[in-house]
Amino acid sequence: MTLEGKEIAIIGAGIVGLSTALSLQEEFPLIGITVFADKFNDETLSAGSGGIFRPELNVHYDSERVRTWCRDSFSYFMDLIKSPESAKAGVQLLSGFHMSSMFSELKNDLVEELLPEWRKLNEKDLQLFPKHLKGGQFYTTPVIDCKHYLPWMKSKFESRGGKTIREHISSLDEIVKRYDIVVNCCGLGAKHLVNDDMLSPVRGQTIIVKAPWIKHFYYADEVYVIPGVDCVTLGGIKDYGSWKMDVNTYQKQFIWDKCTELLPSLKKAEIMYDWVGLRPFRPSIRIDANFIKRQDNYSLIVNNYGHGSHGVALSWGTAQDVKRMIQKIMVKENFTISKL
Ligand SMILES: Cc1cc2nc3c(=O)[nH]c(=O)nc-3n(C[C@H](O)[C@H](O)[C@H](O)COP(=O)(O)OP(=O)(O)OC[C@H]3O[C@@H](n4cnc5c(N)ncnc54)[C@H](O)[C@@H]3O)c2cc1C
Repeated sequence: MTLEGKEIAIIGAGIVGLSTALSLQEEFPLIGITVFADKFNDETLSAGSGGIFRPELNVHYDSERVRTWCRDSFSYFMDLIKSPESAKAGVQLLSGFHMSSMFSELKNDLVEELLPEWRKLNEKDLQLFPKHLKGGQFYTTPVIDCKHYLPWMKSKFESRGGKTIREHISSLDEIVKRYDIVVNCCGLGAKHLVNDDMLSPVRGQTIIVKAPWIKHFYYADEVYVIPGVDCVTLGGIKDYGSWKMDVNTYQKQFIWDKCTELLPSLKKAEIMYDWVGLRPFRPSIRIDANFIKRQDNYSLIVNNYGHGSHGVALSWGTAQDVKRMIQKIMVKENFTISKL
């Protein structure tokens, strides 16, 4: 069997789907790749994310695998920041404060290992903030503004010959008939597409403001302030199991009060709009592969979804895992991978 002439379909054009599409396209330039999605760019959940790279181990039962995802994503974003493309891609390096009113120390060994300028907050730092904040960390990290990053990835993929099609996929069977490899990156959509009961929404809500004087990010307990390219996101609420897409005015007031208490200058910010999105939460992110029989042949189905609150940070790393998995299966199953 040869991979040349084979076709890959990717379902989903959020940050996970487009990262997977670009990674596979780089690895297998002779293969046709099509991204199917019912939402693109600003319509996706990814576009409303705070976009901060913060490594988190608690997303999969295999913590060594998560470390690899985090390291792969981090080095990719750092290379992008060093390249001339970073401005167009909306990826920048920002420093900021991560604080808690409950703990005087916040432990995360990957943050300490990977992120430049990491240090514990001292008394002088804490004097800048409300008194109830007891401690935390300062670090510098990539911040990915998906309102810019998604269109940048999509046009890069298309300029290299990748196809994008707006279509709702209501059953895997219909697409498996047409493609040799199908990669399911449809986030919360996987709940219905593959009947995954372990997937559930974690509703988030943000206020998008114009405040160009905010140059750092700030996390304080359950709220945060994260500057993007042309706006600042105040967030972010975690309602487990809620499918509600309307703006909750009580939560809006809560975010506003907490963020302006943290940074009083935000009282002068112009409110642009409110935003609500549903994170695709799964106790363990799903990345696996299975063969499905179609007529007298087989198609490979690969899953890559359930990134919860960390899809931006893990997007490139999990896409590399999918790429390695496909490479390995192809070699084992005696597919010949042709590279230009
Ligand atoms: C308020 C908030 C703040 C956040 N901040 C951060 C942060 O700072 N850092 C971080 O790492 N993460 C953050 N996240 C989490 C992050 O946004 C998600 O983990 C990430 O966007 C998930 O990406 P995704 O591509 O899996 O899903 P999505 O962006 O939802 O993309 C899913 C894609 O699949 C398509 N699709 C679904 N079903 C179908 C179907 N049946 N047929 C066709 N197409 C389909 C959709 O159209 C879409 O294109 C935040 C989330 C929220 C809500």
